[in-house]
Amino acid sequence: MSSSVALRLPSIDGLLRHPACAPLAERYGRDSLLTGLRQLLDELRPGVVSGQLAAVEIGPEVLAGRVGERLAQQQRGQVRRVFNLTGTVLHTNLGRALLPEEAIEAVQMAARYPLNLEFDLASGKRGDRDDLIEGLIRELTGAEAVTVVNNNAAAVLLTLNSLGARKEGIISRGELIEIGGAFRIPDIMARAGVRLQEVGTTNRTHARDYEAAIGPRSGLIMRVHASNYSIEGFTARVPTAELAELAHAHGLPLLEDLGSGSLLDLTRWGLPAEPTVRQALLDGADIVTFSGDKLLGGPQAGLIVGRKELIAKIKKNPLKRALRVDKLTLAALEAVLGLYRDPDRLAERLPSLRLLTRPQAEIHAQALRLQPLLADVLGEIWQVSAIEALGMIGSGSQPVARLPSAALCCRPQVSKRWRGRYLLNLEAALRGLPIPVLGRIGDDALWLDLRQLDDEPAWLAQLAQLQVDR
Ligand SMILES: *Cc1c(COP(=O)(O)O)cnc(C)c1O
Repeated sequence: MSSSVALRLPSIDGLLRHPACAPLAERYGRDSLLTGLRQLLDELRPGVVSGQLAAVEIGPEVLAGRVGERLAQQQRGQVRRVFNLTGTVLHTNLGRALLPEEAIEAVQMAARYPLNLEFDLASGKRGDRDDLIEGLIRELTGAEAVTVVNNNAAAVLLTLNSLGARKEGIISRGELIEIGGAFRIPDIMARAGVRLQEVGTTNRTHARDYEAAIGPRSGLIMRVHASNYSIEGFTARVPTAELAELAHAHGLPLLEDLGSGSLLDLTRWGLPAEPTVRQALLDGADIVTFSGDKLLGGPQAGLIVGRKELIAKIKKNPLKRALRVDKLTLAALEAVLGLYRDPDRLAERLPSLRLLTRPQAEIHAQALRLQPLLADVLGEIWQVSAIEALGMIGSGSQPVARLPSAALCCRPQVSKRWRGRYLLNLEAALRGLPIPVLGRIGDDALWLDLRQLDDEPAWLAQLAQLQVDR
């Protein structure tokens, strides 16, 4: 029935002693090599038993080569740097804001040495980690007090639970939003133990709608920045100042989830207007929550700022301990906030703001410079052009606003029925580079938006390795 000489896998011991494996043991350690060999042999065994594998496929050199590749890949790690040429600057899936040098240094210090995380150096007594940045945030926002947690989703959850558990939270139907990654306001409210009391309609909510909903079980009024969608046309929204007055007349706190929340008016840099944290507080919001890694341009964090007695209540909630921010984040956050004390130089020093404000002419000049180089590597099947493109801020900030930018636009010169396949192959080849390059496919082309191509030398250095399957 089958061939008379049964094929056998080499033994583990034999492989470990084989000269092809010695350098691997030296490089990755004997245990890692052993684990790798065992896994590989286990995977190959069925093929050997069924006779589907040939002798050359299980020779010691071949097996050593395969294990070596795997070990190299494992050593490189799963968390990898990429080039974000998608056109979306604050891309949630690609890590949002890039930290300024000052923050990177602060993170290194905090990682390397013990620090006064919860230790008051003046009194020698136990301290509170929020105190380390409270002064700065008060100065930059006008808030009375501050507490910081892991992200803005945590900030919203903690605030709602601390101030509204077992009570009703009043919110406009136009603000019951979902933000990517399963963050939905109604769900968060439920998890926080707040009973949702929705008022008004999707497009129009009036002060009288809020007023009619206020009753003995009311605990708070909430306002949520619509972030990733916009309502246009026949709309009505109660201004924060008016809503705050209404809330206070009934002894209720007004919470405002700003989402991105900007510390400064972005229009001074020609960017679309975003509500500032200071203005929300001036308008009468009692608590404002916002992200650290969206427009603020810092590390992932959730900032809760506002009235002292409410912040004190929030800090007493046992959930705060579960959601608290870590020392590396806090160090980075302080450094980023420090840059905001000098707004005149902020656009040079804060990478997210620098990238968001890069002039289109400069990006276009870069595209013109790189166009012939990419065209050369891709060959004549691809038409590569340096053309204007529209990017976006990302992370739910200004979903309709577009950033005028420039891109390398790659179009396969093949019949329509093959275009999709060519584009996917190019996309995969770019992803397969040592530093994966991520663009976007649209309009029968692959677009590499260059707004964020800062490290041009590293991008160019790997270009020659690009190999696109046909
Ligand atoms: C982005 C956003 C959140 C969530 O913030 P994370 O920092 O990503 O947790 C919450 N609310 C609004 C309005 C947002 O835009």
